[in-house]
Amino acid sequence: MKFISYEINGSEEYGVLNENNTKITPMGILLNDLDKKLPLNLLEFIQSYSDSLNHAILDKMKSFGDMGISLEDVKITSPIKYPRRNVFCLGKNYADHAKEVKSIPSGSAEIPDQPIYFSKIADPAIGHMDKFFIPKDYTDKIDYEVELAVIIGKDGKDILPENVEEYIFGYTIGNDISARDIQTKHVQWFKGKSLDGFTSLGPYVVDKSEIKFPVELDISCKVNGELRQSSNTKNLIFDIATIISDLSRGLTLRAGDIILTGTPAGVGMGFEPAKFLKSGDKVECHVENIGSLVNFAKIE
Ligand code: MG
Repeated sequence: MKFISYEINGSEEYGVLNENNTKITPMGILLNDLDKKLPLNLLEFIQSYSDSLNHAILDKMKSFGDMGISLEDVKITSPIKYPRRNVFCLGKNYADHAKEVKSIPSGSAEIPDQPIYFSKIADPAIGHMDKFFIPKDYTDKIDYEVELAVIIGKDGKDILPENVEEYIFGYTIGNDISARDIQTKHVQWFKGKSLDGFTSLGPYVVDKSEIKFPVELDISCKVNGELRQSSNTKNLIFDIATIISDLSRGLTLRAGDIILTGTPAGVGMGFEPAKFLKSGDKVECHVENIGSLVNFAKIE
């Protein structure tokens, strides 16, 4: 089951996509049929859902699936446009990427022996087909990072690795857009990754029941059709069970929290010479069984 947030006739809604990814059944219709109150947005839905509700919705979709709103008639937005707090991120979580990172301060260019965490502001997160703006005269080293994003499904602390899947709602794709010159200048990653519009998420959230755990999915990124990044999430140094169990030690993860699990080799700064983004570039992030998240760079 794929959850989608969208705009139609000026209002923001969310719903469920049919199996062919052609029609959306609004959540309002599905929940009304199940005698349930409609949460305001997908984030609030995630904060209140249960596995049994998701099963009931999936069942309803069997009768509604080919009716509904045509995907072409809506503007897709980030599934969660305003995350409830900063997005959690992993740095250097694929060995080939850890090796290609030379210029960004991070303590060491070696393979980390503990997860490297940081966070970024997404206020709002942008969605599929949106532009991200490069502030003129402030940065000219803008980079892309395709990542598998995990959406937490219920609050949890000190989660054991064997119980992690229970705390996941689903998965989407993230583009962790990064200004390398700002990262270098400030000797940390926060600001260079938190400029307006530098977190892209989507196009959908795929329910965890559709993704086998542990998660082993092909992940790739193209810029203007040129393949730049290509790997598989089985190559994560710290896998999802490790990340969530470790991150939740002494730190409560909340339903709706978003974790970007890191990016494989092939980012722009890894090339010699570097291949940073220019105005008009099309960035296409792909994760197997989830879809493709497309964004366009634009100088502001
Ligand atoms: Mg990243």
